[in-house]
Amino acid sequence: MRILIADDEITMRKMLRSGLLRLGYEVEEATGGAEAWSVLQRQTAPELAILDWNMPGMTGVELCRKLRERQRAAYVYVILLTGNDSLNDLVAGMAAGADDYMTKPFKPAELSARLRAGQRIIDLQGELLAAQAQLEILAHHDALTGVWNRRMILARLGEELARAGRERHPVGAIMLDIDRFKRINDTLGHPVGDEVLQEVGKRLTESIRPYDYIGRYGGEGFLIVAADCAMEEALKVAERVRDAIAATPIQAACGAIPVSASFGVSAAKVGEPMDANALIGAADRALYRAKQLGRNRVEGFFPKLEGLVELR
Ligand code: GH3
Ligand code: MG
Repeated sequence: MRILIADDEITMRKMLRSGLLRLGYEVEEATGGAEAWSVLQRQTAPELAILDWNMPGMTGVELCRKLRERQRAAYVYVILLTGNDSLNDLVAGMAAGADDYMTKPFKPAELSARLRAGQRIIDLQGELLAAQAQLEILAHHDALTGVWNRRMILARLGEELARAGRERHPVGAIMLDIDRFKRINDTLGHPVGDEVLQEVGKRLTESIRPYDYIGRYGGEGFLIVAADCAMEEALKVAERVRDAIAATPIQAACGAIPVSASFGVSAAKVGEPMDANALIGAADRALYRAKQLGRNRVEGFFPKLEGLVELR
C-alpha cells in the first residue's frame, strides 16, 4: 500500500516516513495542503493519506472535504494527524470526511494498528470495484460470444445516430444471420452450435474496424453499427465480414464445420432524419432478401428509398 504523508514539519515527516518504511509501506511526501491535493489528484495516487491538520496552502480538513466532493474518483482513506486533541476537533475532522483521527505525538503501535484497519477498508473497496466492473461486463455483453448484448448495441446505434446527425456523418447498420444454423444444432447438437456462435463472434470482432460496434441482436443474428459509413462503404464492410466467416470452415471439437451468414445492410444518409427503427427495419428486409436469393451474400436497402442496391 502506498501512503501519502502531508505535513509541513520536516521532523514529523521524517519520523512518519521511517516508521512506515519499517512497516513495509511505500511512502510519498507533501509539505503542504496544495501539494498533497495535487498528488491525490493523480491517476496513480496513494490509497491512504496521513494529513496534518494545520498546513500552509490548505488545511487537512479542507483537503478532506475536497477529496470527498469528488465523484467517481478512487477512494482515498484519510487519517488526520494533529496536535488538536479536543472532542470538537475530532468530530469536525470526521464530519469533513476523515476516516480516522490520531493525535501527536503518535504511538508507533497505534499507527500500525490504524493502518491495518485502513488497509482492510482499501482491500474491500478494491474487491467491490472489481465486482462492480465484472457486473458491468455481464450486464452489457452477451455471455456466450462476448460482444455487446442487444440492449447495448441498440444504445450504441442510438448514440452513433445522434453523433452522426450533429457532425453530419453517415451511419451504416449491418444485420447478419448465420445460414442454416438450425441444421448445425439438429445434426451436431446444441453445444456445437454454441461453439460455432462463439467462433462467429470472434471472427466478427476481428474483422470490423476498432471504431465499429458489434452486438448479438437475437439468437444467431448479429448487428454491426458501422460508424461514418455510407451505403457503399457499409456494403464493403459487410462483404469483408461475410468472407471472414465463410472463407474457412470453423474448427469445432468434433471437426471442421463450413459456416456462412447472410447480410442485410442499410445506411442513414447525411441530412436525412436518422431513425434507428427505420435503419434496422431496412437492414432486416435486406437480410431477408439475401436469404431469399440463396444465402451467403450481402444485400442493401436504404431506409427511406427502399431501393435494392445493386452489388455486383
Ligand atoms: P436461415 O438460414 O434461414 O437463417 O436458417 P436457420 O436454421 O439459421 O434459422 P432458424 O431461425 O430456423 O434457426 C435458428 C436457430 O438458432 C434456432 C435456435 O434454436 C438456434 N439458436 C438460437 N440461439 C442459440 C444459442 O444461443 N445457441 C445455440 N446452439 N442455438 C441457438
Ligand atoms: Mg439463421
